[in-house]
Amino acid sequence: MQIFNIAEETLAMHNDIIQNAIENNGIIFGGAVRNKIIRDHHNYKFNEYINDNSFNAKGLIDYKSDYWNKDIHSESKARTIISNDIDIYFKDKYDYEHFRDFLRLKRFTVKHEKLMNDSYVNLPEVIEHYKLVFTFEIGGSYTKKGELIKINIDVVFPKEPYLYLEPPFSKTDFLCNAFVQDKSGIRISNNTGTPIDNMTFAQKALVSSRIILNMVKFKTLMNMSITGNLNVLLHRVSKMVNDENYKWNITNLPLRVVHCNSPLLLHKECCICQESFNPDDKIIGIRTSNNKIIGYHDYCFIKYLKFLVENSGSDEMLCPMRNDVNLIDNTIDFKQLCGFV
Ligand SMILES: [Zn+2]
Repeated sequence: MQIFNIAEETLAMHNDIIQNAIENNGIIFGGAVRNKIIRDHHNYKFNEYINDNSFNAKGLIDYKSDYWNKDIHSESKARTIISNDIDIYFKDKYDYEHFRDFLRLKRFTVKHEKLMNDSYVNLPEVIEHYKLVFTFEIGGSYTKKGELIKINIDVVFPKEPYLYLEPPFSKTDFLCNAFVQDKSGIRISNNTGTPIDNMTFAQKALVSSRIILNMVKFKTLMNMSITGNLNVLLHRVSKMVNDENYKWNITNLPLRVVHCNSPLLLHKECCICQESFNPDDKIIGIRTSNNKIIGYHDYCFIKYLKFLVENSGSDEMLCPMRNDVNLIDNTIDFKQLCGFV
């Protein structure tokens, strides 16, 4: 009996879907582009490792199965990274129809399609957003059910008068999400909504490579100038820093882990539970707009964030002590990022 590797099959489907969307003038954006950049890099690192080592002592490695085993050369485990969903932008709905025909031809089953009223990327006025779930059965036989692979696709169309905007529609949340993939390949978007959009070709190339070099190490910067729904933003931050396999380091978050003896701490106790800090405690420090650092137990702070995400309808970012969080000191210095060119 044929054994299938689900991850390998899923990636092949993703690649097929992406290729066809691009052939039909779609623009891929978000996690799928980011993960492709990361995956390619770590794939290269893994092959380098294979070529640099002779595996005679352990016997020749089984490249195909070892490739998908994250424990083997775990430094390059991101070679297997796959997005949870694929974001595709179609300027023209006819192109999208052709894309849909392709999916049907490939025996995908459309399970679900609905217009999302949620504030996806906080852009309801700029785009129309559809969420599609495709399923594909692999490895089944006449009598036995196979394994169902589910692929989530977010399709967006522009609304008038925003036809000129391409993803991420001047609303980049993290710089690692500023890239798009279209017929010309992977490139930084023309509409990041950051000073990058006005840079020269040379500066853009430099900034892009800086962002990419950090991205492959799961490091990125948050675009603090984004005005948007606080809940959406917090939700994204917590998703990135709590990712099971790949924890992102958002280097300009106005939060830092601090030691309980830090002279910067305004109080020596947690401002949520009021208990004094112990040397073993993990303390999250928030820099407030009057440049004090207020400390919280990590678990108390995470509880607070969860509460905010679930209950706050507010757009202002307040620390639990109701101080404004200092976002200004954490804005990105784009001149520095491109090396003052
Ligand atoms: Zn506490």
